[in-house]
Amino acid sequence: MAFDDFISQDVADSLVEKHNQNLIQAQKELLQWHWKLGHCGFQQVQSLFRSSNQNSPIIVAKLTAASSCSVPICASCRIAHLTRRTSTSSSVSNNPAQLMALRRNDLTVGQTVSMDQHISTTPGRLPHTKVKESPALKYTGGTIFVDHCSKFMYIYNQVSLGAGETLVGKCSFESTLSSFGFTVLNYHGDNGIFASQAFKDDCRTKGQNISFSGAGAHHQNGMAECSIQTVIGWARTMLLHAAVHWPAAANIQLWPFALEHAVYLWNILPDTMTRLSPLELISGSHNPDYSHLRHLHVWGCPTIVLDPRLQDGKKLPKWSPRSRMGCFLGYSPCTLIYCEPCTQLADWLHQPTLPFGS
Ligand SMILES: [Zn+2]
Repeated sequence: MAFDDFISQDVADSLVEKHNQNLIQAQKELLQWHWKLGHCGFQQVQSLFRSSNQNSPIIVAKLTAASSCSVPICASCRIAHLTRRTSTSSSVSNNPAQLMALRRNDLTVGQTVSMDQHISTTPGRLPHTKVKESPALKYTGGTIFVDHCSKFMYIYNQVSLGAGETLVGKCSFESTLSSFGFTVLNYHGDNGIFASQAFKDDCRTKGQNISFSGAGAHHQNGMAECSIQTVIGWARTMLLHAAVHWPAAANIQLWPFALEHAVYLWNILPDTMTRLSPLELISGSHNPDYSHLRHLHVWGCPTIVLDPRLQDGKKLPKWSPRSRMGCFLGYSPCTLIYCEPCTQLADWLHQPTLPFGS
């Protein structure tokens, strides 16, 4: 079934509606947080509801049963995550001796950064246009950088996946990292564009080492491969969730926004053990009340946006509406610029929503 088939169906009724008696209230609350957090695992969401080591819960659920209730089924996850199983498929359990093998020696931010590229055959919408540009000028993929120490992730969507634009993405990532006071010492990637002369020259100029995975050994770049798989899975699920619930506004060309929001969620979600998020690790600042998590929205949901003229301090005619309906697409990319260390985290976490303007 194609994406367009989902947006043509009249299935906007939500599982969390009051009249749905198949789920208890605690399951509905768990489901809502699962949606807000980008369809991350239910166990991870429930762990955020629980207190640990005398620390209060990261997310205070209205119903305490939400932290231990049986896990409901999320239709969007089922649609987006099912994989093919054959008679030879088998479950593989992790070898404890190999846990964190790729990054156990990377103890400082920037010591090693994995990178990889993703490609989309569906052109992605640019954030600053009115969708009137040629499809050849839309996003076709992007580069994802993952820091081994903090697991901080950075995505740079690209129109072309050539060396020129990839280098712009590399500079943008390094600029973000340097705003936190870190520089990149080593890069690791697959061959391809990262093995181009221009890319290697740029690394050499900046005194950075670069290593490549062996032929057919993509697992050596597992840090980036796994992270990309996770955030692309979240983005795909969020797109399908929006298509099922708000079909009038759903558009598959919004995938760059979904992907950037998935990366944002990855960076702000606290680790269940350390209770620190990648963004907190890299910024050195901690948000003790986790208020930024409470302010999250479900990606693609209807949003009321204040009229920009009012934001600019201008006046409107008396009977004109003060706001317009939008669609929550994530947070403004301009937040990648940081000014003062003490406001770094706040700048990331409190930005206006982008209106749905297509
Ligand atoms: Zn889900």
